[in-house]
Amino acid sequence: MVKETAWKWIDDHRDQLTEISDEIWGYAEYGLCEDKSSRLIADMLKKHGFKVQLGVAGMPTAILAEYGKGKPVIATQGEYDALPGISNKVVPRKEPLVEGGMGHGCGHNVHGASAMAAAIAVRYAMEKEGLKGTVRFYGTPAEENFGGKVFMVMDGLYDDVDACLSHHPSDMNVASLSSSTATNGVRFHYYGKTSHAAASPEMGRSALDAVELMDIGVNYLREHVIQEARIHYVIEEGGGQPNVVPDYARSWYYVRAPERDQLDPIFERIKKIAEGAALMTETELKIDHSGGLYNVIPSKVLSDVVTANMRLVGPPRYTDEELEFAAEIAKSFPKEEKIDGLRKDKVPDWERYVDVDLVTDILDPWDEGETSPGSTDVADVSWKTPTLEFETACNVLGAPGHSWQFVACCGSTLGHKSLVFAAKAMAGSVLDLLTRPELLNKAGAELKERLRGRTYEPVGEPGRKPPLEQAREIAEKLKGKA
Ligand SMILES: [Zn+2]
Repeated sequence: MVKETAWKWIDDHRDQLTEISDEIWGYAEYGLCEDKSSRLIADMLKKHGFKVQLGVAGMPTAILAEYGKGKPVIATQGEYDALPGISNKVVPRKEPLVEGGMGHGCGHNVHGASAMAAAIAVRYAMEKEGLKGTVRFYGTPAEENFGGKVFMVMDGLYDDVDACLSHHPSDMNVASLSSSTATNGVRFHYYGKTSHAAASPEMGRSALDAVELMDIGVNYLREHVIQEARIHYVIEEGGGQPNVVPDYARSWYYVRAPERDQLDPIFERIKKIAEGAALMTETELKIDHSGGLYNVIPSKVLSDVVTANMRLVGPPRYTDEELEFAAEIAKSFPKEEKIDGLRKDKVPDWERYVDVDLVTDILDPWDEGETSPGSTDVADVSWKTPTLEFETACNVLGAPGHSWQFVACCGSTLGHKSLVFAAKAMAGSVLDLLTRPELLNKAGAELKERLRGRTYEPVGEPGRKPPLEQAREIAEKLKGKA
């Protein structure tokens, strides 16, 4: 059986694959600066006969690798960026590996390695069975901070892809059908006039006043937007000291809504409020719309394929040691919060999971029509080609994401098991898609229907480039804090 060739390759290379995941876990690099992680993955793909480009779409750490020729083109995509401030050792308690350092608190070490492993395993099955088509791997940087996939989509790199799969470590095994929110990231710069704040306040025009008045206006707007919208901001610059009227101030906003066509009108109203604040304070406003993300278009066809393959492979079994590790981590958060989370996620029969730390069920997706409040750049890919990101258990059920708990789990054998299980399920799914054209036809038709004639228009300043310098600066600062 064609899938067995792929699965055997994964089993035979298990140690090497988990070492790559662990190495990326150890590098824990900031988004757009994943030099070592991307090099490691690119080298492995090259070694196994892929044609590899490291550095595409203006990002030195983005990878485009492929094996085979012509249609269909089936892709896997992997991430490898880490998060600041949550470094932890592989221990079931909060104990930083590097004080204040970066950590893989979203499991992207496993994310990148599972997609890479699946692509390579498929390549050997293709060769052995003489399968036609192309398997492609996209190494997609900066998911957490700058939405690297958006630049790859804008560059047309996904234009000829027939289907795209990825895997995210989580606390469940499920090929979810929920969407994510569309989001805009925007900075509002205000320019006023300095003056002595006590001696000649009448000569000053405060940029900070403008920032504050804008925030007040937006906070009143909240009552008059759809319930599901999210608006959050920070004041990045608010002046130097109180006796100088600040001539420069800046806020940074994220605005989210379930669908892009719900978000755009809310964003237009926020811009009017921003202009109003400038008018009230006689300051100048510059809006820097650095970009945004789309909402995920789910794929029932791909979800069915992946669910069937997860069941064919079978979920990991855990040792007593792993169960103890998980039970210890479970003590770090209150059970009430876990119950709240299960109810919020509308997990069917959630009561059966109250005392479970590591989930071994493979669930049917229950969340079609739901929108998770967060955003992801996987969404932008999903507007271009049928796309599915599935989850496999790795984190302790109920533990927060982006946390030391998740860092510890992703660096442990729980991460290894999540990786191997996901890589096999993904390889099996890619092989189904390569060999059963009717699935691709159905997936394409489903996407067309869900898009209802809407097309992908890049968000933000036209022709914008990945903020490489900004990323390097932040990464250096973070190293200083560590
Ligand atoms: Zn993530």
